[in-house]
Amino acid sequence: MAAFDKHIKRNEPFNETYRMRHTDGSWRWWRSRGQVMRNASGRAVRVVGTNSDVTDLIDMQTELERRNQQLISANRKVEDSALHDPLTELPNRRHLDRVCKDLLETTSEKRPYFSVLQIDLDYFKDVNDKFGHAAGDATLVRIAKYLNTLKHKDEFVARIGGDEFIAILDDTPDATRAQAFCTDLNNLLALPITVDGHSVTTSASIGIAGCSSKQVDIWRVLGDADLALYEAKRSGRCTNRIFDPNLREMADFNRAMKDELSLALAEDGQIVPYFQAQFDAKTLEMVGFEVLARWNHPKRGLLLPGDFLGFAEELGCVAELDRQILASALECLRAWRRDGFVAPRLAVNISSQRLVDPQLIRCVEGMGDDAALLSFELLETTFLDYTNDKVAQALDSLRRLGVDFEIDDFGSGYASILGLINVRPTRLKIDRSLTRNVNADQAIVSLIKSIVDIARALKIEVVAEGVERAEQVVALAGLGCDVVQGYHLALPMSSADVMTRFHKTASSS
Ligand code: C2E
Ligand code: CA
Ligand code: CA
Repeated sequence: MAAFDKHIKRNEPFNETYRMRHTDGSWRWWRSRGQVMRNASGRAVRVVGTNSDVTDLIDMQTELERRNQQLISANRKVEDSALHDPLTELPNRRHLDRVCKDLLETTSEKRPYFSVLQIDLDYFKDVNDKFGHAAGDATLVRIAKYLNTLKHKDEFVARIGGDEFIAILDDTPDATRAQAFCTDLNNLLALPITVDGHSVTTSASIGIAGCSSKQVDIWRVLGDADLALYEAKRSGRCTNRIFDPNLREMADFNRAMKDELSLALAEDGQIVPYFQAQFDAKTLEMVGFEVLARWNHPKRGLLLPGDFLGFAEELGCVAELDRQILASALECLRAWRRDGFVAPRLAVNISSQRLVDPQLIRCVEGMGDDAALLSFELLETTFLDYTNDKVAQALDSLRRLGVDFEIDDFGSGYASILGLINVRPTRLKIDRSLTRNVNADQAIVSLIKSIVDIARALKIEVVAEGVERAEQVVALAGLGCDVVQGYHLALPMSSADVMTRFHKTASSS
């Protein structure tokens, strides 16, 4: 009625929708529109218009609005799940892409400088393998929780792959905040969680790269952080590295080396076996050779395993390298024999990847009687994996073909007596780090003595490697070592040099 009055008095438009109670008790929606008619002197004489029941229309409109709201929220959910990882509920890579694009478009006064962190869990595959996927998932959820706890409100964290995460933090050019973040994160990850009765701890390697918001090249910063992460992984994990421009050069070098190594493995002749003679500790008679890989690089010359094994590992071709070394070493063995030199034994380093390669058994089968000349050097960690069916089977089949086994670098890592008892290798090789101190450190002398005693009890021969001085030979022989190997007695040498040195002594003695 008030609107009606206003319309008449002030000519305001009259178009009202309102409710009225019907006599049957229900509410009806009513729409009234009208236009006032005036006489010549301007007095209102009547209002012409319509009154209509618009209840159905209103209901329809309300319903439409409700559906529209539903649609909006469903859309938001779809968008949300497209931008989030369902397991950890963290933003995903797509979300990161969006944030990066935003960073490129806005230069924020609030964030003059920021750090990008590439975070990668260490040995995450082992958690999955050893404890199952539930434990893996629990670990990921846990790190997501920690990342959320450690980040400030306006900072960004995301899960961008299996066990890879990104954090974008407000920082200073010296990355103070990023470094503190890394320390806090690893401290939290070191706290054990229990999953299915297993206590699981983990750690992360983190690469850090910074950027001023005045000059954002976010894709490059992400790449830089990734290079820094690679360094963090290489320098032993559970740590962080800050990007420095040398890393880019190093990355270029590494890439080139990997390409060249792939080529070298595809073509013949560059990967060659070298041979280091081993001697009876008492008589100093030559008893065999350890085969050591060398890369005859066309430009860089003869490279040691330390220069290229890491690349082979990253390329996943250590088994192929081992295969080529074994094949070439056998060719040498046969060539020596044709020339009248019979090598008593070849000890070949075998990676765990190669050990479980079915081709290895076939290759050894093809060797016939020569298989009895072979000894495979395995790292303790491979032996300790004896509970792994594939490893156990491979060891059994090879042993049946007459191959010996040696535990390499004994005493440098887990030195497990249980491992010795389970696997009964033919020999164990005392690590260089112990041999080196045999004349200097009484505790080391006792340790070597104990190793020899245990080995004797289990009928395992003892090889001491890394012998660099005459007095070490005497001491090691006195402690009961059976075989000695080291620069003092013979350097690793080419097949031709073996013939020159040992064929002559063999024929002259
Ligand atoms: P390793 O099996 O412990 O081999 C012994 C290493 O000690 C060799 O290094 C050898 O040259 C070095 N060495 C020998 N005598 C002495 C000494 O008196 N003093 C010192 N300081 N060092 C001595 P190299 O040839 O550089 O090989 C390094 C490692 O690379 C080997 O350690 C082995 O783990 C790995 N490797 C070598 N060849 C192969 C291969 O064909 N396949 C695989 N999977 N690994 C290999
Ligand atoms: Ca070895
Ligand atoms: Ca060794």
